[in-house]
Amino acid sequence: MEWLTDLIWHHGKFLGIEWSVWKVVGWTGNAVFFSRFFVQWYATEKLKRVVVPTAFWWLSLTGSLLLLIYSFRQRDSVFIFAYLFTWIPYIRNLVIHHRHAQAHLECPHCAIRCPPHSNYCFSCGSPISPDKAPA
Ligand SMILES: [Zn+2]
Repeated sequence: MEWLTDLIWHHGKFLGIEWSVWKVVGWTGNAVFFSRFFVQWYATEKLKRVVVPTAFWWLSLTGSLLLLIYSFRQRDSVFIFAYLFTWIPYIRNLVIHHRHAQAHLECPHCAIRCPPHSNYCFSCGSPISPDKAPA
């Protein structure tokens, strides 16, 4: 059992890592960035089709920013370049998701949110908007 104790805590190092505030920032970035795979996998398994939930993009953005901050601290050009531009598609996907969510229409009859450009409520069949009903 001593081998396990030595593996976890050895010569003042937890898990063999010499900890500092910056190590916490870097490892938190790693943990957040890595967790996105489980979020995406769970969402896909739940719906039985490939799904990329909003949480995936938030975890991607948060994790990559923490790793970028850590890489600047380490002054590692390879690591900096790896995370310098990844925020662009993450933010773009969040903006597109937000706009799509805002474009949903509420059914005046049952108050269910219907996809953008819907003419009729998918739940109760009521017209969503008279001006959008087919002629
Ligand atoms: Zn309805």
